[in-house]
Amino acid sequence: MAATYPLIDHKYDVVVVGAGGAGLRATMGLAAGGLKTACITKVFPTRSHTVAAQGGIGASLGNMAEDKWEWHMYDTVKGSDWLGDQDAIEYMCRQAVPSVLELEHFGVPFSRTKDGKIYQRPFGGHMRNYGEAPVQRACAAADRTGHAILHTLYQQCLKHAAEFFVEYFAIDLIMDDDGACRGVIAWNLDDGSIHRFQAQTVVLATGGYGRAYFSCTSAHTCTGDGNAMAARAGLPLQDHEFIQFHPTGIYGSGCLITEGARGEGGYLTNSAGERFMERYAPTAKDLASRDVVSRSMTVEIREGRGVGAEKDHILLHLEHLGADVLLARLPGITETAKIFAGVDATREPIPVLPTVHYNMGGVPTNYHGEALRPSDDDPDALCHGLMAVGECGCASVHGANRLGTNSLLDLVVFGRAAALRCLEKLKAGASHPPLAKDAADPALARLDRLRHANGSLKTSEIRLQMQKTMQNNAAVFRNQEVLEEGCRSLDQIWGQLADIRLADRSLIWNSDLVEALELENLMVCAKASLYSAEARKESRGAHAREDLPERDDANWMKHSLAWIDDKGHITMTYRPVHTYTLTNEAKYIEPKARVY
Ligand SMILES: Cc1cc2nc3c(=O)[nH]c(=O)nc-3n(C[C@H](O)[C@H](O)[C@H](O)COP(=O)(O)OP(=O)(O)OC[C@H]3O[C@@H](n4cnc5c(N)ncnc54)[C@H](O)[C@@H]3O)c2cc1C
Repeated sequence: MAATYPLIDHKYDVVVVGAGGAGLRATMGLAAGGLKTACITKVFPTRSHTVAAQGGIGASLGNMAEDKWEWHMYDTVKGSDWLGDQDAIEYMCRQAVPSVLELEHFGVPFSRTKDGKIYQRPFGGHMRNYGEAPVQRACAAADRTGHAILHTLYQQCLKHAAEFFVEYFAIDLIMDDDGACRGVIAWNLDDGSIHRFQAQTVVLATGGYGRAYFSCTSAHTCTGDGNAMAARAGLPLQDHEFIQFHPTGIYGSGCLITEGARGEGGYLTNSAGERFMERYAPTAKDLASRDVVSRSMTVEIREGRGVGAEKDHILLHLEHLGADVLLARLPGITETAKIFAGVDATREPIPVLPTVHYNMGGVPTNYHGEALRPSDDDPDALCHGLMAVGECGCASVHGANRLGTNSLLDLVVFGRAAALRCLEKLKAGASHPPLAKDAADPALARLDRLRHANGSLKTSEIRLQMQKTMQNNAAVFRNQEVLEEGCRSLDQIWGQLADIRLADRSLIWNSDLVEALELENLMVCAKASLYSAEARKESRGAHAREDLPERDDANWMKHSLAWIDDKGHITMTYRPVHTYTLTNEAKYIEPKARVY
């Protein structure tokens, strides 16, 4: 089979797969440091999902009120429900301040205070003095922060002469017999040619897999390709059961209304007009962490206090803020509300519903971004030649629940860390050991199998079944019966992948083939999520089980590792949470009850 494809060869020191915030920050650092770097991306860099990030990037700059990295670290550990690795969290929260100032120097057009400093707003779970009261920590460029960061980083990459392969779809990693990564196979969507990239290190930065669900805030490109590539290369997927529902997706379309809207003073009400968050989170109220707010909204709806004809959603009020504030601070979401909900946010509330938003889990890494292949002997063993950063990686700084603004931060901190690590470990221009003749065969066989798929089911039919299963069986609230049913259903849907039929089998290039490749990747991610969720017998962060409502630190303060084979069978193992900090300046934060 493989012989039917002529391969076009490339050799680089480092290949980055993905041109979102994480991929671009890594690419920029690598290229600036003198390593020959290629960045492969299936969409044009500035169309990556990072462009849609609205609310802000977290850093304890203290521009508007006193703040400290220690408080940020405490909030992040608490937000993670004590599943985050405290060494990595210390690293991120300390690096936050220089990382944001660096972005400012690169040219990110942040909003400003009257005296010219970076503007900061309150956000969910950001508190002063170890949980006392909300603090302004989210650095914002109006409600278009991701857009501002992504465009700036792309310009920096061009300045440093990084090489881009745009609209190239990475199919699979090239692994050697020792389990090290040696490169990646990619398909040029423009002309159908197949490219073999050899590299000393491959950095995965492919983003999340929100599209495993029926309704999500993520772009259609968020299909977990990197996670699935790592899984097919024999690595486990870590903590996939932890999927964040954002409290305020627009009812119906799922488009995001940033938490920054509540940071600016917005609030939620039920059918009685009650500001119900005061009951669930007396201190933080509407600015409690996302899992808490999403669960509270779901309880309100279930108990009959939802709004609308079907009493199935909640209202978000911004109208009291006034048109001036909305236009200055939240122009993008004011427009989004008009287009997707038909609502003038300066006059009336926006109908909202918790919507899938972020994947806390991913490819396990250390705080340098180096991918792990954990074993019983060494839970932190490295997979040589592979790194993962951004939403596809799991360092793990978000644990069981991510705080808003900590993802944009994660992108730049760990994108930079990965570049620094490569500069430390790799030699520019080092020769590549020869690849085994059949090194590209598994990837090419996969492409070939799908290209000639002549079954009876459309990609879209199978995808819809998967998305509905995830939506119904891995929702805000879960229980044993629903999770088991979800696992059985996904097993059955996995079986249907063998019966796929592509729309036009005569073309090398067609979007249906892209979607079929993406569907296979989504299925790997979905299965890892549901099986990990079924196995975890406790509630923690975003994983809320009605049958097991308590957190169980004695038995479950550990990371899930889902290993998936090519038949879709899952084996679960676990690795310990890092309960140590990076330096003696940070104290280990002991688990306690999580109240806001
Ligand atoms: C609507 C929305 C608003 C958000 N707002 C905020 C916020 O205010 N603050 C915050 O901290 N976080 C926010 N988040 C979360 C945050 O934006 C994302 O987690 C983050 O942008 C992900 O960045 P990334 O670099 O990991 O991946 P992405 O930006 O998703 O980029 C992925 C890249 O990988 C490439 N790629 C993927 N698969 C392949 C393949 N097979 N071959 C080649 N290339 C591939 C894509 O082309 C793309 O370039 C928001 C998320 C959403 C959806």
